Amino acid sequence: MQDFAALIRAVPDFPSPGVMFRDVTPLLADAGAFARCIDALAEPWQGSGVQAVGGIEARGFIFGAALAQKLHAGFVPLRKPGKLPPPVVSVDYQLEYGSDRLQAQRDALKPGERVLLVDDVLATGGTLAAARLLVEQLGAELVGASVVIELPGLQGRDRWRGDKPLHSLLRY
Ligand code: IMP
Repeated sequence: MQDFAALIRAVPDFPSPGVMFRDVTPLLADAGAFARCIDALAEPWQGSGVQAVGGIEARGFIFGAALAQKLHAGFVPLRKPGKLPPPVVSVDYQLEYGSDRLQAQRDALKPGERVLLVDDVLATGGTLAAARLLVEQLGAELVGASVVIELPGLQGRDRWRGDKPLHSLLRY
């Protein structure tokens, strides 16, 4: 287990009863732990020619921007609806109750650009699968994805097509 795991707080019954929320804010507040976490996220992708990191709102922005710097890549925000100026492309996806939408600017990625997706947590996998569809809609080339935390009990990995690597640093 990575040493920075000790700085991830488990918060029971948040944001709703029965949910165990993994809170990464203590990790982000610790300069050394945050740096080691970014190093660990970057490690599998060194030399893989990543040109852009697609970070998923909101905590994917924090890890993704730092990782982009580390990999000498650009950063592209993948956002909740209504946040990005047009023109945008959208992907709708199912949540446990209801649905949500993820958007990117239409010119955010060039055709064939090599993109790595990043988020803090992989839970049911719907968000990451939607982010992947956005990258594909834009004609970019997906290299793979990294998350800090995977919750294997929610089987998010089953929704990730296995032709591209999906790395997680910690599993709970
Ligand atoms: P999924 O679509 O069910 O995989 O949910 C993943 C999204 O929900 C990510 O963007 C996470 O930021 C957020 N998320 C789900 N569970 C947690 C958690 O325990 N802590 C922090 N974020 C979470």
